[in-house]
Amino acid sequence: MNRRRTRRTALAAVLAALLLVTGCGADETVSPSEPRAEVPRPADAKELTEPPDTPEAPDCGDPTASLRPGSLPAPNALPAGSTMAKIRAKGKLVVGVDQNTFRFGFRNPFTGNVEGFDIDMAKEIAEAIFGTPNALQLRILTSSQRIPALKEGTVDIVIRTMSITCDRLKDVDFSSVYYRANQLVLVKKASGITGIDTLGGKRVCATEGSTSLTNIAQAAAKPVPVQVPNWTDCLVMLQQNQVDAISTDDTILAGLSAQDPFTKVVGEPIDDEPYGMAMPKGQTDFVRFVNAVIQRMRTDGTWTATYNRWLADLLGAPPAPPAAKYRD
Ligand code: GLU
Repeated sequence: MNRRRTRRTALAAVLAALLLVTGCGADETVSPSEPRAEVPRPADAKELTEPPDTPEAPDCGDPTASLRPGSLPAPNALPAGSTMAKIRAKGKLVVGVDQNTFRFGFRNPFTGNVEGFDIDMAKEIAEAIFGTPNALQLRILTSSQRIPALKEGTVDIVIRTMSITCDRLKDVDFSSVYYRANQLVLVKKASGITGIDTLGGKRVCATEGSTSLTNIAQAAAKPVPVQVPNWTDCLVMLQQNQVDAISTDDTILAGLSAQDPFTKVVGEPIDDEPYGMAMPKGQTDFVRFVNAVIQRMRTDGTWTATYNRWLADLLGAPPAPPAAKYRD
């Protein structure tokens, strides 16, 4: 075999190997409405025949209006008896986070650590209480575990792509808005789907307990909502042709799309998703303290630096930090 031929054969082998690795995006002709029986679904994936159980949301005015920031005492001068002093006495801030949302809360396979924008936000709160960002215990939660974890007291705060809504304010309190997201749609590039309006009767994936799932169920085009525990389960189902689309926040979709070059984000914003840090109901001192930390991050460049660190390459140049609204 001459040298050129050997090189060509080697190149063909590399290409074949690459196709094997990335091949799942290639069979665009298989209809998602005929899932291949032999491909197992992610555990607990469920097609909803009824809309998810969302009781009528009370009208709470503007849900994003939080409590005015309090003062920000030095970590060793936290008021005695305050929620912050109690957390400090425990030795660690316990934060509910995600490990499946690339760039917001995800497990870095190289370090084994959970990292991202939300994790850096958590470090700022820990630093304000303890004087070190490392006095932090991360507790991994799915979307539907966020409110129960706060109610059961297994976490001090949830920082996990969580939208502020009137419905959730019945159970938890929120900080001011620390990130503004929008709900969009993720599809396979070759699908021809252009947004939620073209998904009537098609399967659309979102996590259980997310506002995304409710919005899919309420979409005028009447898609079929498919619920799963984690956002990465949605990506697997899209790759296996078990759903036609994923619909959730642009932040989460950008992270999923970065993991599969055969996908793209489409459509007009379906809903505003203002993220707040959620705390147990009634800890007003803690809400004011957290709002003071967020306000400092807005003005001292920390918010923008954190955006640039995790999101700029996926979502573009940093917007202005979200302005705070207060109700008192
Ligand atoms: N922001 C939406 C929510 O809070 C979707 C994000 C998620 O569930 O992780 O429900």
